[in-house]
Amino acid sequence: MLGERNGGFKIAMNALNVGRIKLGVACLEAQRRVTSKSIQYAKERVQFKKPIASFGAIKEKIAQMASSCYVGESACYRAAYDIESRIKYHIDNGLNRQEAELKGVEDFAIECSLIKVGASEDMQNCADHGIQILGGMGFSADTPMESAWRDSRIGRIYEGTNEINRMLSIGLILKKGIKGDLDLMPAVMKATMLMGSERKKEIQESPLFQENQLIENFKYLFLMIAGNVIQKYGNNLEKEQQVLLALSDILIEIYFCESAILRTIKNYNREGAKNQETQIEMVQNYVFEAQNLMTRKAKEIIFHLTEDNKIERDQLISAVEKHGDYIKSPNYFALRTKIADRFIKENSYFI
Ligand SMILES: Cc1cc2nc3c(=O)[nH]c(=O)nc-3n(C[C@H](O)[C@H](O)[C@H](O)COP(=O)(O)OP(=O)(O)OC[C@H]3O[C@@H](n4cnc5c(N)ncnc54)[C@H](O)[C@@H]3O)c2cc1C
Repeated sequence: MLGERNGGFKIAMNALNVGRIKLGVACLEAQRRVTSKSIQYAKERVQFKKPIASFGAIKEKIAQMASSCYVGESACYRAAYDIESRIKYHIDNGLNRQEAELKGVEDFAIECSLIKVGASEDMQNCADHGIQILGGMGFSADTPMESAWRDSRIGRIYEGTNEINRMLSIGLILKKGIKGDLDLMPAVMKATMLMGSERKKEIQESPLFQENQLIENFKYLFLMIAGNVIQKYGNNLEKEQQVLLALSDILIEIYFCESAILRTIKNYNREGAKNQETQIEMVQNYVFEAQNLMTRKAKEIIFHLTEDNKIERDQLISAVEKHGDYIKSPNYFALRTKIADRFIKENSYFI
């Protein structure tokens, strides 16, 4: 006997949780290498008598690739640290190493799924940009980009397909809410009240103030929408797969954005503004893309949810538009140029 009788399924499920965060980290490392290779190629390849790295169209891609590496990295570091701390906590509270590892990873099963999905899709997008930067050579099997794209494609399928992991993450949150491990309903009620009220339009000059506020608001919007979804579909919720997928998209972006904001502010306080300049720009760039996606997904759910109730629809949409939008937007083209210039100078993603 390798473990307790009838305990095998749990061990197998936990092996999947570990596999998911490991897959996320593997995708992330591939993403960093693809980004560095693309930067190096773009500096060497000359078209119209200039290195293609000097063109805005290429800089935009480099900035997007670097920003998603940085944000994905932040999510992976955060989850790995949280899991390690929880394992230590369980050992300190009397579990043996094996039990503590099983329980420690299980406690963060939701995060493992979010990372698996987010990082595998970011890797795919990154490899796609990489192929585009290499042009015709990118499509050829003679260069590493073609295999990077093909290899990254499987990341979205194994360790549970991304559809299954998306539904699983939302299902686990609801399950924790029902079991009482998560104070879900009081949080939903608070969110509904807050998102129904006016938004304070203050802006502070501290770094990532707006981004931080936006992600906080999206957490409340997520809870408000999830509450409405639970109320409407109840036990039939698992049949509403498109709703679950859209909710999960919002959750992934919240987790990734929040991880990057926390990391950057911590390092800003430790090391100062100059040291974190590019990191702040990358977070601003990523959060802008995430805000667009989360707004679209939130609206898609609301349109479905309130098909026959215009008053409710107007109220929910108004909450998304009021609390989920920027008060003052940065110049994103300038931001992306600055990010790309920094990495082109460094000759790789690493800073
Ligand atoms: C290169 C490679 C290596 C692998 N290595 C391993 C390994 O080491 N260990 C291991 O155990 N497995 C491994 N696998 C298997 C892998 O985990 C499965 O391929 C994967 O889980 C998907 O299962 P499937 O292929 O049966 O697809 P299906 O389950 O048939 O899925 C097909 C499509 O239907 C969707 N779908 C399925 N069920 C649902 C549902 N209930 N609701 C909504 N959509 C659904 C899926 O998301 C997918 O888009 C590997 C696969 C490959 C290709």
